[in-house]
Amino acid sequence: MAAIYLDHNASAPLPECVATEIPALLREVYGNPSSLHAPGRRARRLINDAQDELAAYLNCSHQQIFWTSCGSEGNSWAMASAVARARAEHPERAPRVLISAMEHDSVISSAEDMKEHGVIVDIIPVTCAGLVDTVALAQLLEQPADLVVVMHANNETGVIQPVAEISSLCQARGVLYLCDAVQTFGKIPLDLSTLGAAYITFSGHKIGAPKGVGFLVVTAKGRVLYPLIHGKQQKGLRGGTENTIGAAIVGRVVHALRKDDVVWGAALGGMHRRFEAALKERIPGLIIHGEGVPRLPNTSFIGFEGVEGDGVLLNLDLQGVAASSGSACSSGSINPSSTLLAMGCDAKMARSSVRFSSGFTTSWEDFEKVIDVLPPIVERIRRTGANRQDKVRRPATLEVSS
Ligand code: PLP
Repeated sequence: MAAIYLDHNASAPLPECVATEIPALLREVYGNPSSLHAPGRRARRLINDAQDELAAYLNCSHQQIFWTSCGSEGNSWAMASAVARARAEHPERAPRVLISAMEHDSVISSAEDMKEHGVIVDIIPVTCAGLVDTVALAQLLEQPADLVVVMHANNETGVIQPVAEISSLCQARGVLYLCDAVQTFGKIPLDLSTLGAAYITFSGHKIGAPKGVGFLVVTAKGRVLYPLIHGKQQKGLRGGTENTIGAAIVGRVVHALRKDDVVWGAALGGMHRRFEAALKERIPGLIIHGEGVPRLPNTSFIGFEGVEGDGVLLNLDLQGVAASSGSACSSGSINPSSTLLAMGCDAKMARSSVRFSSGFTTSWEDFEKVIDVLPPIVERIRRTGANRQDKVRRPATLEVSS
């Protein structure tokens, strides 16, 4: 691991208190959870225990939880289900889906694919502060719609969305709401019994479980979930032997969060505010995206005027600091942040931004190191003009359908 890891929104390290249990789990839990014999029952018990932990932590019922392989799968599955339901209930018209302009790639790509197959997709705009525009959403909802997709907190800015308002707008019109809670999981309290979303998606690796396990919670009544993989498991809705060890580890990390053995959320907020203030003092021409609206306690997304964000990242990496230029799915490419473009930033600023996202392994000393090394990096890049902004191309964006 990098000496200083500030990319928890991309993926989080495994908490030590859970790591110690894994070798025994791998050795001892080999039965198929659908088998009736003792090794099978043991595997099933692990999955059930994990589901109980999640249900207690999120205030939902055990039966509302469906295991997936990742957050992207949950988003795609929920969207496809809502569209299948719309086709069954309203065969006289095309299904209509509304997504915010800053959704994760898995939502945007699903919507693009749906458009190819006769679904009307409309984009809900985002304000310059990074909040979904609920006035525009209310207007879009004046026409029949089947699904609204707005994430709980944005992965890049950390801005927490007005989910209560969104869900009441949807409920008043009988429209299903999919809330992608991948980034809020573990970081701020979540009560699914009052959230009001029909579908809520989660990913294990964002809280330190291994990649390859996530889950979808379905709270809406009636037939709102359609089979994703045919088979007998998970009520015939997602066949395939469950990722037993993955589910068990998610459950154990959540257990540690519930007992405060792993502390992620509020404690980090104070450090981030001090960190941002210290950088503002030392670096001119700096913008904190989403400043002044509610944000995740662990996220600072910072723009440095006239500087290529990737250049800052490479220099930080050389100093042993791992950060990110935004969403992990686009790292390796030099596309500007689509969230910042949606917020009305120009492409230059969108490419000049670096995200620092902390977690339970982070200490104030980590931030102090960044406060030391970052100002000279930015100053040097500005002085030498060592950035590649002119060579960067804009990303393809989803067109508004009407
Ligand atoms: N939704 C959001 C908001 C995310 O940040 C991510 C991952 O970055 C995902 C969905 C996808 O999660 P996964 O990597 O488990 O597919």
